Amino acid sequence: MEKIKDLKSELSELDKKHFLHPTSSIKMQQESGPAYIFVKGRGIYLEEISGETFIDGMSSLWNVNIGHGREELGRVANEQMNTMAFSSAFSTYSHEPAIRLAKKLSELTPGDLNVCFFTSGGSESNDSAIKMARHYWKLKGKPERKKILSRKLAYHGVSMGATSATGIPEFHEMTSSLAPDFVYAPSPNARSWSEIEDVDLTCIDETIKIIEKEGPETIAAFIMEPIQGAGGMIIPPNGYLKAMREICDKYGILLIADEIITGFGRTGKMFGVEHWDVTPDMMTVAKGITSGYIPLGAVIFSDRIHQELIELSTGTLFHGFTYSGHPTACMVGLKNIEIIENENLVQNTEQRGIELSKGLTKLEEKHWSVGGIRNKGLLGAFELYQDCTSKKRFDPSLGVAKRVVDECLKRKLIVRPITYEGTDTIAIAPPLISTKEEIEQIVSIFSDAVSVVESQLNG
Ligand code: PMP
Repeated sequence: MEKIKDLKSELSELDKKHFLHPTSSIKMQQESGPAYIFVKGRGIYLEEISGETFIDGMSSLWNVNIGHGREELGRVANEQMNTMAFSSAFSTYSHEPAIRLAKKLSELTPGDLNVCFFTSGGSESNDSAIKMARHYWKLKGKPERKKILSRKLAYHGVSMGATSATGIPEFHEMTSSLAPDFVYAPSPNARSWSEIEDVDLTCIDETIKIIEKEGPETIAAFIMEPIQGAGGMIIPPNGYLKAMREICDKYGILLIADEIITGFGRTGKMFGVEHWDVTPDMMTVAKGITSGYIPLGAVIFSDRIHQELIELSTGTLFHGFTYSGHPTACMVGLKNIEIIENENLVQNTEQRGIELSKGLTKLEEKHWSVGGIRNKGLLGAFELYQDCTSKKRFDPSLGVAKRVVDECLKRKLIVRPITYEGTDTIAIAPPLISTKEEIEQIVSIFSDAVSVVESQLNG
């Protein structure tokens, strides 16, 4: 035990000196060092260096879809590295892992999304989609179509284009300038089952107004997450996605679906857009494509766009990453998809989602502060309100969502608070292999955690 303590404090000191953490408080890291140093993962569990085991209720960063510790993935990575660690896919070079994965993705994705460009993650995928949309219009002789329409509270990543497409002010404020030609429409902002079922789609009218004000002939593409994740776990009202597809068609705007969280079974369908029967012109994926075992992302294009690119392009496509189609990542992706299919994880997620929504309903009934419950498959959330009926929020200085998350952590459940625009949202996204019992355990921990915080607030 002493040895482990020594190791943790040694690592903690090194962490503070040498490791700048992503999306973290630099000051807090210096004051307290890392609170948790994880050493092992199995199923839906992560083990901390002290030996304590936690439920990974967020699938880490909404990515470990098939759960931790699947040795098959390690085996295929090892085999591929030993066979051919790397080979370029630039120009006329190619290799079987990328070809096979591209073919597999074309089978999995809806409609005529059949042509794949590989990246190493979500931000790269979105930047690529944005550039490709502008490239497409330029080839078509319409370079003035360059604006990217995004939404408030959207999260699309942190590279320059992806940050600019992101609609969360905090991500814009950290830097002095953004990429040009991004405009923002309102997001549906539905935060409960009843709002999702509501057909009042005022945000669509506002979006149309923005398109008309900007000039439809200046807009290259509309980018949207089918379900907004990091911005507040917002499931759009029924009818929203279909309406946005129709609006894009009417104005000739390309539709990019960011399926980086919602892809690969997370919502109880293989891709989020399938819930609303919508096919985008481009789909961006990452995270669940390898369940986080190795970095990989992709942009999947429709045949129509691809065909036009073939007809119109005259020279080199000056866009490609060294790791566009890394052979090992592609092999891991293929094995990960095989596991999702062979183990019926999409169907499992649909079933677990039904159980999760029952559990959240009970949570809402039992606790005066819990409202705004919602989920699709294993992507869900609830809100904490000072008064659920009037939807009065807590004073942000009380840090209610953070306190609930801390109580969950004490009970060995990792979940995530989202507090943009004064909200107190708790997001939940456990691995797709979760069992009925594990979902019940998660809801039971939520209930205990909320009880503690409610009694503090009452007291
Ligand atoms: N889009 C969405 C919807 C995301 O949730 C994320 C990551 N959380 C990204 C894009 C960016 O992906 P990455 O962090 O792999 O660059």
